[in-house]
Amino acid sequence: MSAAVGTVRTVLGDVDPAELGVCDAHDHLFLRSPRLPGEELDDPAAAEQVLRAFAAAGGRAFVQWTPAGMGRRADTLPALSRATGVHLVAATGLHQAVHYDPSDLERRYAGLTGFFTAELTTGLHGAPEGVRAGLIKVAGDFHGLDAHTRRVMTAAAEAHHATGAPIAVHHELGTAAPDVLDLLCEHHGVPPRRVILGHLNRHPDLRLHRQLAATGAFLALDGPSRAHHATDHHLFDTVAALLEAGHADRLLLGGDTTTRTARHAPGPTHLLTTLAPRLSREFGPDAPHQLLTANPSRAFAAEWRTAHTTG
Ligand SMILES: [Zn+2]
Repeated sequence: MSAAVGTVRTVLGDVDPAELGVCDAHDHLFLRSPRLPGEELDDPAAAEQVLRAFAAAGGRAFVQWTPAGMGRRADTLPALSRATGVHLVAATGLHQAVHYDPSDLERRYAGLTGFFTAELTTGLHGAPEGVRAGLIKVAGDFHGLDAHTRRVMTAAAEAHHATGAPIAVHHELGTAAPDVLDLLCEHHGVPPRRVILGHLNRHPDLRLHRQLAATGAFLALDGPSRAHHATDHHLFDTVAALLEAGHADRLLLGGDTTTRTARHAPGPTHLLTTLAPRLSREFGPDAPHQLLTANPSRAFAAEWRTAHTTG
């Protein structure tokens, strides 16, 4: 397995991947969407509690996949990281169109590549000066890609080429990953090892998972989750199938807490208190380190380029 190259761009600066530590590779401290009324994650004190509990259970790094325009509270992230000692990685990018006001999207479309690139290299919108994003979050649709998601992914690919940033993908109910890799990698030349495919356990097609892992892309599995309980019982079979096929170095795990309800139980700490011991029992004592520390250090490390921002 290759070692991590480059640095992980956290909200407090670039970090040696070897220093990242135990990582929740896909989660949310803050999230707001018209699709989730009453379930906003918008309370810094609650976010700090989550991080403190995560740190007390041995957690050292937390990657927030909330993209621009969804209440990611970039203003609070550096102070939360300082207060809790947990490395935080923030996202630029955009989600599916349903999460935005249409006029807001029209305004954003004009300079999308430049916006993503600037957030990765100059500063995250709404954050204290010099705080930068460490990944680009994009989204697919159910078993396909619409004009909006294609547009956002094209800008993400261009921003990747300008900066070196990893691209993390929301898959609707776990579907359309082949369409995503076709667009990002075949069409736009993003190396598959720079792409993190999220939510695949929500569509537990194990044969497809093996094909996706064989491309070199990372597979980020999430849960258990109250919001997506229907596929929770597949999580360990999904991990087992990928480990047996020799893809242990492609797997990431995250809590993906998207709602207030989900935060209370099981929440991000569950990864460390419940999943990690079970990984060890099921797959051997090296599995927790591989999936929760070694793999994220490679997935989120980038050889950052100093980009000239373009529209
Ligand atoms: Zn998420």
